[in-house]
Amino acid sequence: MPPLRLHSEILTLATRHPFIIARGGSSQYRTVMVTLRDADGLEGWGEAAPSRFYGETAESVVAALAVYGQAMPESPFELEDAERVWETTMRGNPSARAALSAAMHDLAAKRLGVPLYRLWGLDPARAPRSTFTIGLDTPERVRAKVAEAPEYPILKIKLGTDRDIEILRTIRNETDRELRVDANCGWTVKHAIAMLPVLEEFGVTVLEQPLVPQDLDGLAEIRRRATIPLIADESCLTSHDIPRLAGRVDGINIKLAKCGSLREALRMIAIARAHHLTVMVGCMIESSLAITAAAHFTPLVDIVDLDGAALLAQDPFVGATIHAGQVRLPSGPGLGVTRR
Ligand code: MG
Repeated sequence: MPPLRLHSEILTLATRHPFIIARGGSSQYRTVMVTLRDADGLEGWGEAAPSRFYGETAESVVAALAVYGQAMPESPFELEDAERVWETTMRGNPSARAALSAAMHDLAAKRLGVPLYRLWGLDPARAPRSTFTIGLDTPERVRAKVAEAPEYPILKIKLGTDRDIEILRTIRNETDRELRVDANCGWTVKHAIAMLPVLEEFGVTVLEQPLVPQDLDGLAEIRRRATIPLIADESCLTSHDIPRLAGRVDGINIKLAKCGSLREALRMIAIARAHHLTVMVGCMIESSLAITAAAHFTPLVDIVDLDGAALLAQDPFVGATIHAGQVRLPSGPGLGVTRR
């Protein structure tokens, strides 16, 4: 059989509002759609959501895919071997490899005629509810964003500014919904400890990545004083990061664009469980294509933050959806994603 044929295409995605976090933001994001086509013309799709923070751009993804394209398997069922070959052919480039991984899984499950979650033996009804993220903004725009998302019972608030308390107060005055906080590395240990009683006052239930990625002892110090779960995001890229985080945080946030593959995401879940860690799945600003790839393993996790496509002005794909916070997986074969 000839090897699977690879095609890539840069997508430009616009968010409804500029999406700003502690280290900056934009209202335009570029992702890369990957198509794998087999000899019968059946296609598997994936999407790379590159982040400069993790060393990738849309251009670097396209360049990486050209390299990985030289090592394409003949069959979509060569999942383990293909991922290992790509990872060792050229390290890094996690979002590019995640897109290939998603496309392989899509094609393999389509070949079998089943949704990916069924191939994995998962019950889609077990998916926890997803948060909806409120990015950094002026008090007026923060209020408007909260009002625009009444169907989401849990809000994730981006902090890491000198206006954090004002932002929390603005949102709490607007709603009594559950609030979680992500400081995106924007705090120091001292500041985070000072913020703990403030988070408690506003009824925040989860704190994500207050410190720079490498400050694991700082995370441990915050965790000792915190009454709410502390989740590592930027400090946890792949399964290799998990053992040293165990005992220092309460949980980890898995993103395909960080870990580089759906199989690695499943490994991370298993390893996190072995260390008694809470498991969260998150996302980048990306379309329903990448969101749906991650949504297929949400029945295995505790915390879901898969609003990346919900933040878009226009989504080129239809896949997993969120209703009243509940993630609904499509029932079609593979990822179950179609073009809008
Ligand atoms: Mg985060």
